[in-house]
Amino acid sequence: MKRKLNKVICPCCKGVLNINDCNILGKSYNNLHRKNLFQKTWPKIIFRGACDYCIQQNRALIAKPFIQNYNSEWDLPHLMFWDKTTNCQKCKIEFVFSKEEQQFWYEKLKFIIYSFPKYCLNCRKERRAKISQNNRLMELLNQEYLNDKQLMREIAEIYSKIGNDQKHKFFLRKIEKLNVTDKIM
Ligand SMILES: [Zn+2]
Ligand SMILES: [Zn+2]
Repeated sequence: MKRKLNKVICPCCKGVLNINDCNILGKSYNNLHRKNLFQKTWPKIIFRGACDYCIQQNRALIAKPFIQNYNSEWDLPHLMFWDKTTNCQKCKIEFVFSKEEQQFWYEKLKFIIYSFPKYCLNCRKERRAKISQNNRLMELLNQEYLNDKQLMREIAEIYSKIGNDQKHKFFLRKIEKLNVTDKIM
């Protein structure tokens, strides 16, 4: 049983289009039926996608819904990807979740289809850097020769990089103390 889409608003050019003018979207939609992937629970007009012209202009990419990760019958797979904007939860700046990133995110990394990046690229980079600094810190703290000044200097530096001023100063003071004892001895 094929369901018919009526009107489609192209998210790229904002044009209101008849489904008959969106051959590529129609094809993707029918493919879901053909492959028996269409869920009865999905509402009738759910799928959004770009018009043929915008796809030809490379404003949208054709998705492969059958390789996406949707485990509930309420999740609607992506038929197409186009650039989407959202605000970063950390710095609040608006950022673009590009169509290429979405393709990579949902079809290569197989992230669940309703997941969406919370942070902009800069904040994501910053978070990754913090995590790797933290891992390095754990590595260092697990070493037994904690008295070594070189080691403490590295720890102090990492704390400074991840913005923990208190710990940064704490380790600097420790190094100072060691310098003093060095002089006395
Ligand atoms: Zn369009
Ligand atoms: Zn941000």
